[in-house]
Amino acid sequence: MKQKAPSLLLPSLLLRDVQEASVRISGKIHHTPLLYSTTLSKLSGNDIYLKCENLQKTGSFKARGALNAVALLTPNERAQGVVTGSSGNHGQALAYAAREFGVRAVVVMPEDASLAKRQACEAYGGTILLCGTTAEARLAKAAELVANEGYVLVHPFDDPGIIAGQGTLSLEVVADLPDVDCIVAPVGGGGLLGGVSLAMKESNPRVRVIGVEPSVGARLRHSWQLGTVTELGDDAWSPSVADGLRARRPGKLPYALSRAYVDDLVTVTESEIAAALRLILERVKLVVEPSGAVSVAAALAGQLGCSGKKVVCVLSGGNVELAKLVTLGAL
Ligand SMILES: *Cc1c(COP(=O)(O)O)cnc(C)c1O
Repeated sequence: MKQKAPSLLLPSLLLRDVQEASVRISGKIHHTPLLYSTTLSKLSGNDIYLKCENLQKTGSFKARGALNAVALLTPNERAQGVVTGSSGNHGQALAYAAREFGVRAVVVMPEDASLAKRQACEAYGGTILLCGTTAEARLAKAAELVANEGYVLVHPFDDPGIIAGQGTLSLEVVADLPDVDCIVAPVGGGGLLGGVSLAMKESNPRVRVIGVEPSVGARLRHSWQLGTVTELGDDAWSPSVADGLRARRPGKLPYALSRAYVDDLVTVTESEIAAALRLILERVKLVVEPSGAVSVAAALAGQLGCSGKKVVCVLSGGNVELAKLVTLGAL
């Protein structure tokens, strides 16, 4: 879906916020490699460069935003500690970031969270609280900790500090590949795409920015179509294998940023995601999680609307259990 209407909302984040975030978190994150893939280039008809956030600290780009958000807390807030209701990569990233700044972190997880996820979070020094099995139950628990014990809630995507941190990825791409033509990133709540698109377009307006959603949950496209942030109903949503891309609605700030800075939104099917994941494992020799493979899936499915261009696909994360890859048919 192409962007039609010009932006009506002026997003409140600036390139300077991303540049300052980059300085703030440098030394605590990796400047991740940008790898050219001959195989993916041949198969897709573009020159494909992979931005390897699967090799980032904590195994996903979310370390960028979490570090920036924690660094931005006041001394008082740092003394109170941080909390989040996300069981996945944001939880791990927040635990890691909090420990880097000597701040307490509580991650509210579902009672059925895998042992691997709990252990990863604990290894970064986070305190785990198990609560229910739904996102609502976790959010309610987190809200309780905020109200009763003074913890600061750090939202996984609808937060300016988080978004500015995610955007630092684009500054690295511009430095490593100054003549980049196009950048492709997955969309969950939209924090990644919001930050990436802002930093990329304000650095070089000539670069096309494309967001990718699972066709079983295209929340940002749905909101674009209706012209306002809108939740997907049960008819338009089912849980994607890309478990980092299951939000039912985009964040408000990510939505506004996407209207201002994103050129195009495309979707990929569940089998396209699994096939891309398998190809990345077998041919590129990189471990990515399903959410991290959707940008490559879009390129391979011919969804980018260009050929012969220098395209950066963001491999957003690599946190996946081998058993999961087996059930996906990727192993
Ligand atoms: C969180 C996440 C995403 C989606 O990021 P949003 O900011 O929610 O859009 C994509 N890939 C991975 C691996 C993630 O952890």
